[in-house]
Amino acid sequence: MSTETNLAAKGGSVTETDNASLCYQCSRCSAGCPLAEEMDLLPHQVIHLLSLGEEDEVLRSNTMWMCAGCYTCATRCPNDIDITTIMDEARAKAIAKGIKCPNPDVLTFHKSFLRDLGRRGRIFEMRMMAENNICKGKPFDNADLGRKLFLKGRLKIFPPKSLRGFKRWMKELLKR
Ligand code: SF4
Ligand code: SF4
Repeated sequence: MSTETNLAAKGGSVTETDNASLCYQCSRCSAGCPLAEEMDLLPHQVIHLLSLGEEDEVLRSNTMWMCAGCYTCATRCPNDIDITTIMDEARAKAIAKGIKCPNPDVLTFHKSFLRDLGRRGRIFEMRMMAENNICKGKPFDNADLGRKLFLKGRLKIFPPKSLRGFKRWMKELLKR
């Protein structure tokens, strides 16, 4: 089972493990979000809708697809609401429910990222970007950027080492 489907298979509400009802709508999460301008719903609006049980409205927005998982919102929240994990769970739930991602390239990138992460617990950027381009049907997308990053030593030719115990940990995770 893939990482995505395993998360989705947990079922239930995306707020099951996160106490969204503690939110008092101070908007500190949204104020710090670097991608807020790109989102249909701001992070504090997502939490508000989820606490009202309006999950479908959240799952049909582009918000969780724009989320970069930077944890700024979660660290700014005075109530320790793990908004980043809620975004992760919302993505998995949207995929499980067959709700179309508003930007197919974002979904393709998301899958390429998870597939590569699932190999060793660390991203091998060169391979992930190549696979992502092939899956998008745009083999030379961002080729110039890739060349610049390579020349600056930011893209490695060889994959990084696996995290210690990663394979065992993945096995356990996929059993759940
Ligand atoms: S920072 Fe926390 S309490 Fe404030 S709006 Fe966001 S989720 Fe709610
Ligand atoms: S984790 Fe996502 S929602 Fe939270 S601040 Fe970062 S980009 Fe915004």
